[in-house]
Amino acid sequence: MRFNSPPAKAVANWVNNDVRVRQRRHPELAKDLYNQFGKSHRQRPIISTENCSKTLCASQFPPCSLCLIFIMATILILGAGLSGLSAARQLQEQGHEVTIVDKGRGIGGRMATRRFEGGIFDHGAQFFTVRSEAFQAELEKWESQKVVGEWFQGFPTPDNRKPDDHYPRFRGTTGMTGIGKYLAQDLNVHLSTEIAALSYENGGWTAKTASGESFSSEKLLLTAPVPQSLALLATSGVSLPTQARETLQSLHYEPCFALLVQLEKPSAIPAPGAFFVEGETIYWIADNSQKGISSIAGSVTIHSSGTFAKQHYNDSEATVASLLLDATKQWLGSEPKSWQLRRWRYSKPENPINIGALHVPELNVCFAGDALNGAKIEGAFTSGLKAADLLG
Ligand SMILES: Cc1cc2nc3c(=O)[nH]c(=O)nc-3n(C[C@H](O)[C@H](O)[C@H](O)COP(=O)(O)OP(=O)(O)OC[C@H]3O[C@@H](n4cnc5c(N)ncnc54)[C@H](O)[C@@H]3O)c2cc1C
Repeated sequence: MRFNSPPAKAVANWVNNDVRVRQRRHPELAKDLYNQFGKSHRQRPIISTENCSKTLCASQFPPCSLCLIFIMATILILGAGLSGLSAARQLQEQGHEVTIVDKGRGIGGRMATRRFEGGIFDHGAQFFTVRSEAFQAELEKWESQKVVGEWFQGFPTPDNRKPDDHYPRFRGTTGMTGIGKYLAQDLNVHLSTEIAALSYENGGWTAKTASGESFSSEKLLLTAPVPQSLALLATSGVSLPTQARETLQSLHYEPCFALLVQLEKPSAIPAPGAFFVEGETIYWIADNSQKGISSIAGSVTIHSSGTFAKQHYNDSEATVASLLLDATKQWLGSEPKSWQLRRWRYSKPENPINIGALHVPELNVCFAGDALNGAKIEGAFTSGLKAADLLG
């Protein structure tokens, strides 16, 4: 399909006004052109009608039809977890102006890594599996850059009661947060930036922090755990259409405690250095040294079960740590030198749905994250891609 040159009046508008005007007027054309001419051309739509060359177009006037490929929107993404990062990369590649804000001090959201006592500990997600083609393609990039590597295959348990399912489990080579850091290269990310209020007026969003910092955009992507996104919209007085609101309100998460323990000596956890306990108190235990991310021995992560976390969520750190240490004594094998406790209020979705992402076009807002696409790292990643398709 070929496109004719746009009308002169429109050309003048596009050049005289900023890119947002162009996006609003010609979203279909932009999409078709994007599909036709590929994802790597990120120039703004200013180019000679005679010599339309993707590399020349930054300085020439007037724009030709080809140059309308990069009719961009401004998009604010709340959350630098995996879904926000995968969406941001795709949207930025399409030519949109993307800004990410995250309340955390580090990139990666629930793919989190912490250092203390000389050890390195993954305290959120521990590994990931790959089942879809889209994620397989991404894995190959990560592997080639040595961002990730295989840790083990199958499903280790203390008594080997579950057979090997033959799926490799991958981990970040420097910890799970390394994946987020890799993805965030070239993205505009504001960390330690918690959005406290949102407003939607005249077709655009404004997001404000408690300290008054403000971000404006045409479109908004919300990737925080869904109850947090809904609470933010509610305190901001933004109402969603009934069906979208009900779908989102139906999603629930379970909490989890992560106890990070630096032992005096190596742990007694057998190779591959981790297993699913799946008991009443403990869900998972892993040795970050055997995992290859901690350079000193005896750096252990213990995850409680959801049931235990619900029962003890408001107990003191000392009480929770002592119960978790007691329940894992046999695998620790030596005395704890030091520990830290992390409470994950929204650790994993209990009843995820598989819709990819939820778009509310009348508000220019989209919701993405693991709860909308299967409760795992892979689901979060592909949810971000879906959201980028819907918003882009
Ligand atoms: C303890 C634990 C163990 C897990 N184990 C595994 C595992 O082994 N394998 C696996 O596949 N998955 C695992 N998961 C799940 C996996 O981590 C998630 O599915 C995935 O990381 C979710 O990514 P996301 O982008 O949807 O959300 P998140 O990573 O939660 O990203 C959302 C981001 O939004 C930010 N945010 C929230 N509110 C605001 C605000 N108001 N302003 C600014 N920023 C805000 C948060 O700081 C966060 O960074 C585990 C999770 C936990 C907690």
